[in-house]
Formats: sequence, C-alpha cells, structure tokens
Amino acid sequence: MFMRTNVLVLLALSVAVVLAAQQPPPPAADANPLLKPWSTPFGVPPFAEIKPAHFVPAINEGIAQQRREVEAIAVNPQAPTFANTIEALENTGELLNKVTPVFSNLQSSNTTAELQAINREIAPLLSALRDDIRLNPVLFGRVKTLWDQRARLGLTPVQAKLLEENHKMFVRGGANLTPDQKERFRAINAELSAVGIKFGDNLLRDTNTYRLVIDKTENLAGLPPSVVAGAADAATAAGMAGKWVFTLQAPSIWPFLQYADNRELRTQALTAYITRNDHNDTYDNKALLSQMAALRAERSVLLGYKTYADFVLEENMAKTPDKVYALLNQLWAPARAMSLREAADQQALMKTLGATFTLEPWDWRYYQEKVKKARYDLDEQALRPYFKLDNVRQGAFYVAGKLYGLTFTPRPDLPTYHPEVQVFEVKEADGSHLGVYYTDYHPRPGKRVGAWSSTFRGTRMKDGQRIAPVVVNVCNFSRPAGDQPALLSLEEVSTLFHEFGHALSSLLSKTPYRSIGSFPRDFVEVPSQIMENWALEPDVLKVYAKHYQTGEIIPVALVEKIQKSEQFDQGFITVEYLAASILDMDWHTIAPGPVQDATAFEHATMSRIQLPSTIVSRYRSPYFNHIFGPGGGYASGYYAYIWSEVLDQDAFQAFREKGLFDQATARGFRTILEKGGTEDAMTMYKAFRGREPSVEPLLKKRGLK
Ligand SMILES: [Zn+2]
Repeated sequence: MFMRTNVLVLLALSVAVVLAAQQPPPPAADANPLLKPWSTPFGVPPFAEIKPAHFVPAINEGIAQQRREVEAIAVNPQAPTFANTIEALENTGELLNKVTPVFSNLQSSNTTAELQAINREIAPLLSALRDDIRLNPVLFGRVKTLWDQRARLGLTPVQAKLLEENHKMFVRGGANLTPDQKERFRAINAELSAVGIKFGDNLLRDTNTYRLVIDKTENLAGLPPSVVAGAADAATAAGMAGKWVFTLQAPSIWPFLQYADNRELRTQALTAYITRNDHNDTYDNKALLSQMAALRAERSVLLGYKTYADFVLEENMAKTPDKVYALLNQLWAPARAMSLREAADQQALMKTLGATFTLEPWDWRYYQEKVKKARYDLDEQALRPYFKLDNVRQGAFYVAGKLYGLTFTPRPDLPTYHPEVQVFEVKEADGSHLGVYYTDYHPRPGKRVGAWSSTFRGTRMKDGQRIAPVVVNVCNFSRPAGDQPALLSLEEVSTLFHEFGHALSSLLSKTPYRSIGSFPRDFVEVPSQIMENWALEPDVLKVYAKHYQTGEIIPVALVEKIQKSEQFDQGFITVEYLAASILDMDWHTIAPGPVQDATAFEHATMSRIQLPSTIVSRYRSPYFNHIFGPGGGYASGYYAYIWSEVLDQDAFQAFREKGLFDQATARGFRTILEKGGTEDAMTMYKAFRGREPSVEPLLKKRGLK
C-alpha cells in the first residue's frame, strides 16, 4: 500500500480558524519545534522534541501562511505567467508540507487518543483550505488564462504537465461550478473528510478490542511453538501472564487460523475478524460507508461525471470503469474455477482425516496448509528460521545495490518516533546522499493494520537543488517471540520487498515538482510488486536467507519446494482479492440517491459474482479501510493491484530475458522511477519495454492459464 501524505498542495483565503475551547494553552511559538528550522542530520523531523500539543498551532500557522501566499498570487497585478502563477502556487505551503506529513504518519503508525482528537480537529480545516484554493475564482481565472495560452508559452514537457495537472486540479476541485453548487461541493468534502476519519478510528477500535484468550493448553493444539510463544508474550503484555492471547492483527490471527486444531476457536476468531464494525453499535461502520458512497456519487455528478469511478479513473491508466470491469471479469471465471478445485482437494483430504463436516471459511487456511504439506512437503514454519527480519531487509538492500548501486548505512544517531524504528542513510554508487529510509516493522495498538510506504518529505527541486526524500515503511510483521528474533513468514518476506519497492520509488524520484511526483493509482504498485519477484529468486535467496542460528544458507531443496508451490492457493488468493475489487467498483459506480443498505448491497455483489461459500471477500465493506478509511486513497482503485501486476509481471519478464540484474534493463526501469508522475505512464512503459504490456505473464504466474 502506498500513502500520499504530501498531497496537500494548495489553498486560499477565508475560514476563521477556531481552536476548541477545552484545549490546553498552546506552547509559545519559539518553543514549538515544528515552527523552527530542523537542525537534525538531513533535516529529518526532530521526533523527540515534537509533542502532540505542537501540531495544532503549527498547522494553523501553516494554513495562515499558505492563505497569504495564495492570496498574493491571486491578486498579483501582473498578467499571469507560468512562473508567477503555476510555479508560485507550487511553492506555497512550505510549512504545511513540512508539518502535515509528520502528523499524518504518526497518526497512522503511532496514534493516541490525543492525536486522534487533533486529527478530527484539523481535518476539516485542511479540507476547507483545499476547497478555498480550488474554488477561488480569481486564482482559477489566472490558471485558465495560462491553460488557454498553453501552446504559446514555450513550456518544457514537465512544465506543460504541471500546468495541465494544475488546471485539472481546479476543474476537478469544483472551479467551474456555480456558487450554489460550490457551496454543496464544499459541504460534501467536509462531511467526507469527517466520516472517513470516524470510519478509521472505529476500525482501529474494533481491531484492538477483540482478544481470544486461551487458558487451557489443549486449545493450543496444532500451533507451532513460535506462535504459542508470541501469544504468551501478548498475554503478558495484556496483564494475563500464564495465558495466551490472540488478536486480529495479521501476525496473530493468520497463523492461528492456519494451525489451530480447535475448529470452534477458529470459527470464533475468523467471525470476529469479518464482523468488525458490523455489530450495530456505536462503532458500526455500515451507515458511515453507505453515506460516503452516496456523497461521492453526488459530488461526481455535480462535477459532470456519471459516477465516482468515472471521476477517479479518468486520472488512471484504466480511464473508464468498463476497462476495469473487463480485466476483473477476465480473471474472475478462471480464478473461481481454480478455487473450487482447491476446495475439492481440501474436502478430499478432510475425508481421509475423518472430518465429517463441509469446508467453511474458517477451515480454509487450516486444511489448505495440510494439502500444501502433503503435496509439496513444504511447511511454512520450517521456512521462518531462514527469514530473520534483519536478513530479509539486508536482502532487499542487496537487490537495490545490484540493480541501482545503492547502499544503506544504519544511522542509529538519527531521531525516531518509536524505539523499534530503525533509520538508514541511502547513498548512490558514487557515495552521494540520496535520502533517508526509516523502517517500522512490528504491530502495536496505535498502528493501523496492513503495511504501507509513505514520506516525511518528498523529493522536489528548490532553487536548483534537489530536496532529498525522507521515506518510511510501516508494517505489522511477526515480532520477536521469547528469545527468538523476528522470523518472517513467506508472505511477510514478500511484503517487506513490496514496501521497499515503494520506498525505492520515492527515493529515486527526480521530480522537480511535488504535485506531479506520484504515479497514477493503477501504476503505483508496479515499482513495489516488481520487487517481490527478486525476493524469491534462488540467486537472491542464497544471499539473505540464512538460518538465524546456524547461518546455513537455505537448502536448494527447500528453494525448489517454494518455487514449485508458487501457484498453490492462487485460486483462493485471486478470488478473495477480486471479490474485494469488484465490491469497491460496485460501491463507486452507483448513481446518487438514497443511502444504500450496506449489508444488502454487499450481498447483491457477492451473489452476482457467485462468490464460493468457502471464501470471504478479502475486505468486507465495514472494514475496507483502503476505500473508506481516511483519505480513501484506493476508492475505485483497489483493482490497481492486479492492474499493476499485469505491468510488473510483464516488466519483470524483461529482467528474466536479459538477466536478473542486467544493467541496461535496470537503467530503463530506473528512468520510470525517476520520472514518476511527470510523464504519461503508458508512454514511459512503452519506452522501457518497446511495446504495450501483455497479460500473459500474469496469467502464467498465477496458473490461470
Ligand atoms: Zn503497495
């Protein structure tokens, strides 16, 4: 997952800033580290000095500054030029762009009730600021004048792209609406921002509240010792020493469902997971998400689009909902058929084991693991000792070194926001500074679920100098258990390489302008997913997959088993993913109108596609954070993972053909990462590959053909 934290590009006048009366008095400005230059190495945030109380005054000051800057551009008596309008706008909001990424990253990875309250306070202010800029008619008049003259301005291609994106941002931000429509547009944005935050807070609450407490050893039957040790640690941390606690966090629930012999407890755990925020209580998300879908539909129609998906996809490679549905449907039938065969295999094995019941969702991971063991003699747990977290990260660094000549130097002297966070300086082959890379790998109550890459500071050019990025990867990996270091599952290994791929994309970016730095949503997973391929290449495994106790390199036989089992369970994986993607598209192709009943809506989707009864959509609507959470960055965009996979499989095919670390191919791919959003994604891809992408490598990899 990829989070854009530096999207707050512009703003303008009005809106009184109201501080909640019950707030403690803000600290004096000269004591607020957010308002001072940062003298830390590489100018990273001075985390130790930053207190929650510093954010509201700094963000208010940032908002005020940007309003003044934008207003000055709007009322400039000189005729609009690219420099005095487009570039000038790009350079506004320096303080906000420094402070808000720090806040939003902490709010995602290390939140507290205090930060959540601040978020609820500042989100509407930032939403209003965005609207004020985009709905400022005088400012838009200047942008439109330049847009109309664009052919005569003599702009470079990158400048032309910045102008185009700016103009589009205003139009899509409501600049062409009538005053009445603008008022409604603003109200919808404010409401969407508030509801999205509530959705996310509710989800964090329900995820953290559930505990499966085990106090009898017989209920641990089937669980590997490391999983049991982790559950014992979790119990101790929860003040229940001597018992075992399982949670809904990924490193806890998935191994439990995979190994626990006790079917009743598996049922309880999965049911808790898939009914999060669906209990008709204060924390229920159904009404909130239905409201969001209705508001998004209404706003899109206001802007002249048929649906929210049409509005979103115009900006993506896919362009239209039809194109997205076409890809999803092309994959659905073969994936579904494959999952039915997988279910039949499990049912057959169950029979030999004397099970008399029908396969249910809480049985899938458990029996699939047994089929896997029988078929490939591959035990997931036997792999973990070779995947010590530090070694896996070293493996990712190795790949970046071989491809691009990068090096990663630990910098324990740099400030961090949590003792478990580690920092590296990233350098080019010639030793020059490229950026700073933070890793934050283990779950804790203040961290959202999932894994993502984000930036504390994005790349851009300022006064002819490249501003170096400060990047962070946040994950929820298995933590050290007992006296064992953190040992990753195969899936966690892929996730580490995946997020590292996003990080590389941010680190290698050479975009001169912050607001056109990012790839379209359906291309953004290409740099991340392509890295997953190197993770399991035998030549790369040899380098990093070493037994944590003996140092022994992973045996060739085990590597072969991993490769042979790569297509295993792809029916299930593809079906649960596609179901969520189709659900996302369905929610975002509705017409405006009465708010839908979320339960009935989701049910209608799943019956239309005939989702097998043994599989649950990877995300059900009430906890589909990608599309309804704060920002909702993947709304009408969850399909992007498989769309990107078509591209990354086709791209990796180039490395297979020319060599895993072929320098010319690596240079070609690096060019795409350097350009980011400054050029059309398909144009860049064709320049790299010499043709349009083919879907064949994806079908082959997943065994769908
Ligand atoms: Zn991602």
